[in-house]
Amino acid sequence: MKIYNYAAGPAKLPDSVIKQIQEELPSVHGSGMSVLEISHRSSLFENILEDAKNDLKELMGIPDNYHILFFQGGGTGQFAAAPLNLATNNHKIALLDSGHWAARAGDEAVKLGFEVDTLASTKDNHYQSLPHLPKDTNGSVYDYLHLTMNNTIEGTAYHTPEKLPNTTLVADMSSNFLAETYNVNDYGLIFAGAQKNLGPAGVTVVIVRDDLVHPVEKIPSMLDYNLFVKKNSLYNTPPVFPIYAAGLVLKWLKDLGGVSEMQKINEHKSGLLYDFLDQSQMFSNHIKPSDRSLTNIPFTTGSDDLDAQVIKAATDHGLMSLKGHRSVGGLRASLYNAMPVEGAQALVDFLDNFEKNNK
Ligand code: PMP
Repeated sequence: MKIYNYAAGPAKLPDSVIKQIQEELPSVHGSGMSVLEISHRSSLFENILEDAKNDLKELMGIPDNYHILFFQGGGTGQFAAAPLNLATNNHKIALLDSGHWAARAGDEAVKLGFEVDTLASTKDNHYQSLPHLPKDTNGSVYDYLHLTMNNTIEGTAYHTPEKLPNTTLVADMSSNFLAETYNVNDYGLIFAGAQKNLGPAGVTVVIVRDDLVHPVEKIPSMLDYNLFVKKNSLYNTPPVFPIYAAGLVLKWLKDLGGVSEMQKINEHKSGLLYDFLDQSQMFSNHIKPSDRSLTNIPFTTGSDDLDAQVIKAATDHGLMSLKGHRSVGGLRASLYNAMPVEGAQALVDFLDNFEKNNK
């Protein structure tokens, strides 16, 4: 039975990358040593790190005045790092409350003593559409606007960024990093945990504009952008294996034609599922069509019991990890970059059959 993994993260990696990891595991680049045991100060790892940076730069079109950094601590670590590094003038952040992860970012900043203004929220309609900036908001009182580009749990995404004049844009791209094209110049800071679209859990990518990087007093070294720039992400022992694996995924994406090609494939995959859901009498997705995510698609039968039956039957059929986040319920299919078109089609075929057999 062919297994497909629709988990929201850690999530599916390309089959060819898993195979390459397996083949190279005892001896990376013919060195006779495993990537699991090499020194982060070795030239072997230096090459792996530089390659990953160069490939990411090429794939995203990252301009020269941006730094590419690798942190530990996940997206959650960046909820603290972003205000500590960037909110040093006004100590004040603007936020659009588009879902669970946007709210968590706000909570972390408040916990650290920053002021957070939630300029708009769609909590009242269960985040089934995106909040937008109120007209005439004065951006100059804020150090930055925090935007969650793709709301992993709720299944919405900003396909073009909200822009607040006179302030920096900070983007959490954890769940649609490299899944659709964005113009890096629109952002002061982009961050993303690797474990959805880039690689295994354990590394977080930070892309930050040079003029925003400056010495900050009383900041933990592990969150300090200025220090990580100076040390080329090698202040302490970095997550060697996740960076190596992410590097392989970046090469896979380049071979596939880059981010714009990937976006077309992602639009096709998500289109297959949305088209099915929109005509189904049994299943539905409640998100406003223009705000729908390409990568995370929640849906439901409207009945908890029936949803549970669908999840059980899907699992028996090799379609794994379709349970929705506990805060939303229902089902959720994550169709990240590594999910092939056949995986989206297999899910649609299964749901269609389930509906026909359970009328
Ligand atoms: N932001 C978004 C959009 C996420 O989806 C997640 C995790 N699912 C996080 C932040 C938190 O990331 P982490 O678990 O890496 O701390």
